[in-house]
Amino acid sequence: MEEIKLAKGFKPALAGKPDQSVIHLPDPETVGVSVMDMPYIRPKILVKENDPVKTGTPLFCDKRNQRIQYVSPATGIVSQIIFGERRHLKEIVIRLKGKNECIQFETLSPDTVDKVQKATLIRLLQEGGLWPCFRQFPFKDTADPDLEPAMIIVSMNGNDPFSPHPAAVLEHESRAFEFGIRILHQLSPRIVISSRQSSLDRLNGFKNHITHNVPDVYPAWDPGVVLYKLKTAIKENSSWCISAEHLALIGNFLLTGTYPVKRVFTVTRSNDQKPHIIARQGSPVKLLAGSFPDKSLITTGRFNGRPVDLDSHMGFFETTLNIIPDNPKEELFGFITPGISKPSASRTFLSSFLKTRTQQDCNLHGEERACVNCGYCAKICPVDLDPSFIMKAVLSDDIEDALSFGLLDCCRCGLCSYACPSKIELTHLLSNGINAYYKDKQ
Ligand code: SF4
Ligand code: SF4
Repeated sequence: MEEIKLAKGFKPALAGKPDQSVIHLPDPETVGVSVMDMPYIRPKILVKENDPVKTGTPLFCDKRNQRIQYVSPATGIVSQIIFGERRHLKEIVIRLKGKNECIQFETLSPDTVDKVQKATLIRLLQEGGLWPCFRQFPFKDTADPDLEPAMIIVSMNGNDPFSPHPAAVLEHESRAFEFGIRILHQLSPRIVISSRQSSLDRLNGFKNHITHNVPDVYPAWDPGVVLYKLKTAIKENSSWCISAEHLALIGNFLLTGTYPVKRVFTVTRSNDQKPHIIARQGSPVKLLAGSFPDKSLITTGRFNGRPVDLDSHMGFFETTLNIIPDNPKEELFGFITPGISKPSASRTFLSSFLKTRTQQDCNLHGEERACVNCGYCAKICPVDLDPSFIMKAVLSDDIEDALSFGLLDCCRCGLCSYACPSKIELTHLLSNGINAYYKDKQ
C-alpha cells in the first residue's frame, strides 16, 4: 500500500462524529430519485404520475445517451414528479405500496466474469440503473461508456469528514465488493483503491485490495485529490471514479440480477452522536434527520454538500446529512473572545491550538468584502491552486486564463470558501467557471 502525502487541506476538530453502531430504519412511506446531485444530466422522464412501478423500473434516462437509465428504488406508485425553475426535473417521488417486487435483470457468474465482453457489462449496468455510479473527470459527469479510462479511482470514504465509515458500508458486502473489483479490471488497465489512514483499522478484510492510503486531512480522500497526486500523463485527466459503496452495489446487482436498494447514511449534529443508519435509497430527509431545532441548515456535506429541505429525499450520491444550527445573533466583540469552541481555518481562535472539538453554525461573522490578497485560500487548497487568481479570471469571463491556472483540477471541496476572511464564495465561482467551460465544449 502506497502512502499519498498532502501538504495542504484542513483537519477540523469537529464535534458530532457519528457513533460506529448501526441501526436499520423501516421502509419509509415515500422514496425519491433526485437529479439535484447530478449537475450535467438532461433527464427524459419515462413515467407519469400514478404509474405503478417495481424496484428496477426505469424512471428517466439521460437525453445525452438514452441507454443510461435511472431506476426506481422501490415498488409502488409514482406519486409526484417535481419540477424546479424552467421545468427542470428535480425529483420523482414513489409512494411505496404492496409487496416489494423486483425487475429481474441478467446475472453474471463469478466463474466467467473475467471473460465477459465489455459491451455486455456496460449494457447490463446501463439497463440496471447503475452505470451512473461511474463519474468521469474533470467534470465528474457520468462516465462515457465509449472511453477506456486510463485509471479508475475507488474511494473508500465519502465527501464529508463524517461520511459513513467504509467498514459499516461494506459489512456483509465483501463478496460483492470483490466481484466489483473484477468488473473494474474489464474497464480499465489501472485500478486505484484509496482509503483514509484512520479507516484502515477496521478494514482488515479489505486491506489487500487497498492500493493507497491518504492522511486524515480533509479532502485528501476525494478522488479528485487522489488523481491530482497520481496523474503523470494528459490522458489520465479523463480517468473515472466510483465510491466503494457503489462498487459493492454493482457487484451485488450483477450477482443477483436485482437492483440493490440498501444504503448507509450518517447524520451529524454538533451536540449529538448518532449511529450509522441503514435505510432505502432515496429515503426522505425528514426521516433520517429526526428532530432538531427549527432554525437549522441541513446539507449533504458540510464543506461541499447541497442544502436540502425536509420534504426532499436523499440523492443517489448523498450519504451524509449535516444539521448545522442557524445562529444569526452577532456576538458583541466576538473577535476578541478566545473562541475555544469556534472553528477556524486561519488560527484566529484558540481552538486551532488547543484542538478542542468545535461547533459549526451558519453565522458568517461579516459580509462579503473585496479580496484582500491574504492568500489563505491558496494555503489551504489541496490541489495547489490559487483560487483568488482563478476567481478573477472567471469573473472577467476569461476561461482560457482560468484553465491555464488549473481550473479543471479544482475538486470543489469548498475549503477556499470556508477559509476566505472576505466571505467570497470561491468554490461557487470556480464551479460556475467549470460549468461554463463544460457548456462551451458541448
Ligand atoms: S480551489 Fe477551492 S474548491 Fe477547488 S480544490 Fe482548491 S480549495 Fe477546493
Ligand atoms: S482567501 Fe479570500 S481574501 Fe484571501 S486571497 Fe483568497 S479570495 Fe482573497
